[in-house]
Order: sequence, then C-alpha cells, then structure tokens
Amino acid sequence: MRSIAVMNQKGGVGKTTSSVNLAASLARKGRKVCVIDLDPQGHASFHLGIEAGPEMTTVYDVFSQQTNLDEARQLVAENLSVVPSNIDLAATEVELAGVPGREFILRNAMQHWKDQNRFDYVIMDCPPSLGILTINALSTVGEVFIPLQPHFFALQGLSKLFETTALVKRRLNRDLKVTGVMLCLYESGTRLAADVTEDLKMFLKSSDGDAPWAQARIFRTRIRRNIKLAEAPSFGQSIFDYAPSCPGAQDYEGLADEVAAMEQTLSIPKAA
Ligand code: ADP
Ligand code: MG
Repeated sequence: MRSIAVMNQKGGVGKTTSSVNLAASLARKGRKVCVIDLDPQGHASFHLGIEAGPEMTTVYDVFSQQTNLDEARQLVAENLSVVPSNIDLAATEVELAGVPGREFILRNAMQHWKDQNRFDYVIMDCPPSLGILTINALSTVGEVFIPLQPHFFALQGLSKLFETTALVKRRLNRDLKVTGVMLCLYESGTRLAADVTEDLKMFLKSSDGDAPWAQARIFRTRIRRNIKLAEAPSFGQSIFDYAPSCPGAQDYEGLADEVAAMEQTLSIPKAA
C-alpha cells in the first residue's frame, strides 16, 4: 500500500485538485484508492461529491478517537472512497494541544490498513499549514508529493516545507520520503515556469543523500491551467466525470501513469 501526503503550506497551489483527480485516475486504472481529507475546509470531500454536514462521521471523529477510519470512510466511485472532513476538524489543533502522542493518531488509526494492505493508494489532502494535521499525515505516510505553482515566489517557503519533512523524518517517521513534485497551474511557454523548474532541479540535484527529498522527481507531466479543473469541484465530480476529454483530464491521467509506473521500483503487492 502506498500512502502519499499531498502537501504544501501555501494555499491555492493545487493540493486538493491534484489529490482528487490523481486519486480518481488511479481508481479508473483499477487501483483501490482512498482519499483522506485533512483540510477543515472539506474541499476534497466536496469535490468527490460529499458535503459533510454536522451529523456525518468525519475524520474529526477519528482524531478525537470516537471512531475508526472504516466507519468514517465513504465509497464515492468504483475503487474510490473518501474519509471526509468538515469545519469540525479546525478544532483539532487546539483540542490536541498537550495530548501525548498527538502526532501519531492517524498513524495508529491507519495501522490495520497497512497490515491488511487494504488499498493500493491512500492519498491525504493536507491543509495549507504545517500544524498538527499535516504532522499527522507526515508521520503516517511513506511518500510526500508537493504541488507547486511555478511563479516567482514558488520556491519561497519550500525550504520551510523541506525542513519540516527532515524534522519529521528524524523524529517521527524514518521512512518518510518526498518522492514527487507536481507542477500545477502551469502556463506552458512562459519563461518563468521554465526558470522555476530549472532552479528546482538544481536544488534537488545538489541535496545531500540523507535528505528525505534526495530522490524526489519532478513529474514530467505538467498540469496545465485549465478552466474545467476549476469548474469540476462545484459539481462534486472529478475531472474524469465532469469533462473527460479536456486537457486537465489528459494531464491528470498522464500524471497518474507516471505515479503508477513508480510501483515497479517500489515492488509493492496489490491490495487484497
Ligand atoms: P489548494 O488545495 O492547494 O489550496 P486547489 O487545488 O484548491 O489548491 O486549487 C486552488 C484553485 O485553483 C481552485 O479554485 C482550483 O479549482 C483551481 N485550480 C487548481 N488547479 C487548476 C488548474 N490546473 N487549472 C485551473 N484551475 C485550477
Ligand atoms: Mg486544498
């Protein structure tokens, strides 16, 4: 089972769009996929057609240890489910302050999925912060994907993000690796996009071998700016249901092919 945190403390860089559409594409390729929505804004849940009202069991109830992931999980398409979130999750940061072991709640909750190899992919859509929810994701997953919008400030804040992964690797999760950078909202043909990509390549190449990002790849597939990707969430549909032949669908399918191709080098067994 691959577990992937889609993480960047900046908002609006394509975390949710990528989590949802990558998950949907992998599910269409026959992988068993679960999305865990770790953002109190609940955008990933909404994008997948789930509006988590106050009565619904959500990932908040998992963090407050009143339920387990299976009780909170909902099937939204063939091979695709989501553990939804809503604004309740915003209280978690405060409620868990000072609680011993609070960094490991999600890891403990997910242990039986790992043991049983329940999914091929668990994809976590992180909130735009480096708080306790993101730390829980990082202490649980094997991989981090970083969506990046290649504009002038794109690399700013990236060092903080990388530092956080290094810290978590040292203290909480020795297996943590940043395995991919996704270039989102890409304006092809612009000089700036190419420059940012080059700078990032140089940075990754020059990093020391123990760094969690030492083997990170920049995915070849660029996710181009495409209005259909921005429209799909309000219909509660992935891009493959909303506009299956648009450039956005092509790009996320290309990305999913690259992600799936990594399975060979990771040699992981298929989900039961
Ligand atoms: P994050 O989760 O990092 O905050 P989102 O995935 O929600 O970012 O994306 C921010 C906004 O940009 C959303 O309105 C989304 O619909 C839109 N968006 C994301 N990717 C694209 C794209 N490739 N083309 C056009 N709009 C996009
Ligand atoms: Mg988001």
